[in-house]
Order: sequence, then structure tokens, then C-alpha cells
Amino acid sequence: MIRPSILLALSTILLLQAAPAIAWNAAGHRLSAYIAWQKMDEVTRKKVEGLLLQHPDHEHWLKRAKNAPPALAAFLEASTWPDDIKSDRRFHDSENETTAPIRGFSDRARHRQWHYINRPLAPLPSHSPKEVTGQLDGRLAELIEVMRSNDDLQRIYALPWLIHLVADAHQPLHVVSRYDREGQSDDGGNALTIATPFHPRLATMNLHAYWDDLPGPPWLRGERLEQAGNAIMEAHPRPPPVGTISHWIEESWQIAAHNAYPDDTNRTNPTPEITPEFNERAQEVARQRIAEAGYRLAFLLQRLLKK
Ligand SMILES: [Zn+2]
Repeated sequence: MIRPSILLALSTILLLQAAPAIAWNAAGHRLSAYIAWQKMDEVTRKKVEGLLLQHPDHEHWLKRAKNAPPALAAFLEASTWPDDIKSDRRFHDSENETTAPIRGFSDRARHRQWHYINRPLAPLPSHSPKEVTGQLDGRLAELIEVMRSNDDLQRIYALPWLIHLVADAHQPLHVVSRYDREGQSDDGGNALTIATPFHPRLATMNLHAYWDDLPGPPWLRGERLEQAGNAIMEAHPRPPPVGTISHWIEESWQIAAHNAYPDDTNRTNPTPEITPEFNERAQEVARQRIAEAGYRLAFLLQRLLKK
């Protein structure tokens, strides 16, 4: 007989495999944060450092970052915090669950819907029951308002979310869903399996995860992260116009509409294949979006923390 604990472990593994990927991976978030840090002035860095120092997970971040200078390390590790809490037992998914209080936090929900907004790529069939899901745009606007306030308790909570969601808004598959004739959504590519010879570990995966993993391996840190971040900045030296949240999402939507799906216009192939040309272009687009998110985050924080 299989012991219940083993069954539990097995079901957890299965759940983990089935869970849709819903963000740039950790490398993408840290790269955007690294670029933002390089572009922020010293006053902004100090203010950011002061806020993150009071975050309940600050010590954990420093341990995880190993050798990076503490202020930069906290900023880089904070960038993945909204993804980290998805598997953190101190936090919960549904309104009905309760978890023990964490000092300094009133909000212990995982807020999975904050990471994306599923705008249809084409007009939906009239009988489609689906509506736009996800709260990325509205939540980003709220977080910016919180950062403008003088309420430090709220700002400590909001800052990692802001760092994270600015980058998510630049991931093309975070803002779209493609619908079939029956009105069935692909959930931002999560439900579309592709074949790829370019992923270091997987031969097939879903399209959303393919995009999430383009920036590099999720454990990218330290010197390698700095090298990768510097290379992206060299290739994209000019900051883009700052724009608004709607601009960023519209840009991502346009990229998704024209460049994010492998060419299977007739949708005859249930598992479309990633070609070398597509892969090269996707890599390039991912690096550009990471740079843009980094530059914009720096500007935004500088403006918000000026007082
Ligand atoms: Zn995310």
C-alpha cells in the first residue's frame, strides 16, 4: 500500500506540472530589476532600500541572493516575490482560506489574477461565454497610487508587486488569449502545446512557458545575471518613451498578435513547431521587452519616490 504522505507528494508534483506558468520566469524578472537598478539615481535607490529593508522577507532574500550587495540583492529578489508566494504556505488562494497573520502584512492572498489580463486577439464569436479576465492593468494603477502615498506599511507591501507587474505587463502572452471557434480560450498560450528543439530541458511545452523561459534559466543570479543584464542594455541603450500602463499593454498585445504565435494560421497542426527564425525573433523580442520594462520601472520609481 502506498503511504498517504507519498500520495500527497505525488499529487503535489502532478499539480505543479499542471499549473499554468503565469509570468516571465525568475531570470526575466531579475534582469528587468537589474536594468532598473542601473538606471535609478542614488536617492531613489536609498528610498527603495529603506522600504525593502522593512519587508518581512528581507532576511530571506539576502540569504537567497548570496554574494550580491545587500541593497541590490533585496531589489532583485523582491522582483519575484509575487511568484514566490504562489507556493508559500503563509499565503492562500481562496477567500475562504485563512492563514496565520504575518507581522506587517494585512494581505495574505496570492492574487494570481493580478499577473495578467486576457484580452482576446480577435473579436470573440457572439455566443462566446468568455469575458476578459485578469486584473493586471487595474492593479498596476492602484499600486502606483499606493507608492505615491505616505503610508509606509502599504508601500512596503506594494513595492515588490510593482517591480514584478511592470515586467509582467511587458510579456506579450500576459495580455492576450486566443479563442477558437467555440469560444474556448487558450489562456494566454497556456493551453497551446508547441514543439521546440531550443529549450535546454523540454522538447514540448506550452507556448506561454516557452515565452516565460526565453530570458534564461530561472536560477540566473550573480555575475552571470549582471553580464546578461549589461548585454541587454548594450543592445538596447536608448530608454523607450515612458508611456502609460495602457501603452505597455497595447505594445504587448501587438507583439502577441503578430509575433508571439508560431505560424499555424490554418491551425491544422495540434502541436506547431518552433522554427530557428521564430526562436531567434522571440529571443530578440524578449530581450527588448525586458529592457523596456527595466528602463520604465527606473523612471517610475524615481518619479514616485522623489518627495
Ligand atoms: Zn507574474
